[in-house]
Amino acid sequence: MLAGQPIIILRENVERTRGFEAQRSNIMAAKAIAAAVRTTLGPRGMDKMLVSSSGDVVITNDGATILHEMSVQHPGGKLVVEVAEAQDGEVGDGTTTATVLVGSLMEEAERLLAQEVHPTIIANGYQLGMEKALEIVDGLAITVGFGDRDDLLKIADTAMTGKSIEAVKDKIAGIVVDAVRQVATETNPGTYVVDEDDIKIETQVGDSMHDAKLIRGIVIDKKRVFEQMPTKVTDAKVALLALPLEVTKTQVKSKIKITSSDQMKAFSEQERESLRKLADQIVASGANVVLCQKGIADAVQYYLSKHGIYAVEDVKEGDMKFAAKALCGTVVNKPEELNAATLGHAEEAGEVPDADLTVISGCDNPKAVTILLRGTSQLLLDELERAVYDAARVVQDAIEDGKFVVGGGSVETELQLRIRDYAATVGGRVQLAIEAFANAFEVIPRTLAENSGFDTIDKVVALRKVHADGAKYAGLNVYNGEVVDMREAGVIEPLRVKTQAIKSATETTMLLVRVDDMMVTQSGRPGPQ
Ligand code: ADP
Ligand code: MG
Repeated sequence: MLAGQPIIILRENVERTRGFEAQRSNIMAAKAIAAAVRTTLGPRGMDKMLVSSSGDVVITNDGATILHEMSVQHPGGKLVVEVAEAQDGEVGDGTTTATVLVGSLMEEAERLLAQEVHPTIIANGYQLGMEKALEIVDGLAITVGFGDRDDLLKIADTAMTGKSIEAVKDKIAGIVVDAVRQVATETNPGTYVVDEDDIKIETQVGDSMHDAKLIRGIVIDKKRVFEQMPTKVTDAKVALLALPLEVTKTQVKSKIKITSSDQMKAFSEQERESLRKLADQIVASGANVVLCQKGIADAVQYYLSKHGIYAVEDVKEGDMKFAAKALCGTVVNKPEELNAATLGHAEEAGEVPDADLTVISGCDNPKAVTILLRGTSQLLLDELERAVYDAARVVQDAIEDGKFVVGGGSVETELQLRIRDYAATVGGRVQLAIEAFANAFEVIPRTLAENSGFDTIDKVVALRKVHADGAKYAGLNVYNGEVVDMREAGVIEPLRVKTQAIKSATETTMLLVRVDDMMVTQSGRPGPQ
């Protein structure tokens, strides 16, 4: 019998929070994280400057990047960060929206908990609300075809507004739309899939952001290795080598005992001979361009240049893979493998004047493209790259799903009103939870208004009024505060951005609301064994 004996079920180093305290802790964490990113929402949102422990500086407006750099420790908070990460991974945009939405859903839940609505009722109401929300958004969506370049441009544009790259937005939107359409594959008539890996983004400091370019081919961030090589080669036959074209330490690691200068001479003679053989094999293969993942010895450089070969050394592994795909060639590990089948092909390969770049264009595989970005500082280029990445992802979403919704707070206002109507038909305590769910959406138009310096109550009320009168696309013009038709204003976003945000924000909130016991093992303190 265990009578009188204390039963120990937790190790000493486990910190336990229970009941209301646990709920409160998660609500606070979610609200704090939402508060941290909410000022960046919308075109007039602010940027954040983040400095890592190693001193690296990031200036960004991107929700996922901010949360990543913040390294959140709170367990509930980590789940909220995961919402943003999932949003970024799945759709590439809407990370701030999703995070702010979790904060708002948690805040509404807090109110319900204070009214003693049981967490399971809240979760139940949120589930019903989410199903309704997805149905409503789907009904609000508008069709976009592969050929609707104008709408695709607007979708790219909307994803980039508010970033510090505003000045080149239109140009970049054009590049991005063309790039995504270039790599899209039609699987069934009218159905497209895009492999985001087919688009490579290459950045280089120097020149202005206006010099961004779409290259139907590949870009390598290095010049030719030796000055006497040609600067340009047409009808390029590209050898892709993973092996070094020099004598590396690993190759001479085996013990050789050299006792006389003759032996030394013989040894280096042998080395030279093996390099010469390598170079011969390259020339014999018919290659006129060499991309080498490792180094190229001076002697080999000279020999290749004599044969009019353009060569680049120390090419990154990722670039080698992308080149193999684009050029329909194979990266080889042994020189014997060089032949017509493993060589890649392109119309032209050569150097970009005034830049440390090699461009290979007119590749055999037209589905590989590179977006080349230039900018005067690395900070700016980083933010530009993030914006291009987001834009490419939203254009991909729109092309794959063929649907978009209207932004500027219009969807969220419509959701709030219609889900409230729906709640009224449900009745009981669950109705309260569905209403709370509906009200949570107000955070988006409210924050857009707040970040643009307008009176939030005025704007939210005005939006609700026109929506109640049937203007389902009405949203906030963040520049002058007017409530306008956002479809006409061209503020549009892929349907997937909204559905993913609604799903992941709701599901995470439901998960957190039902937690009433948190056990956190402290890694720092050793527990009893
Ligand atoms: P997220 O990380 O959620 O994408 P953003 O800072 O990109 O955050 O802001 C997205 C929000 O801004 C969306 O609700 C979108 O509809 C809105 N938005 C974007 N451009 C405009 C615009 N020109 N006018 C009004 N709202 C806009
Ligand atoms: Mg965005």
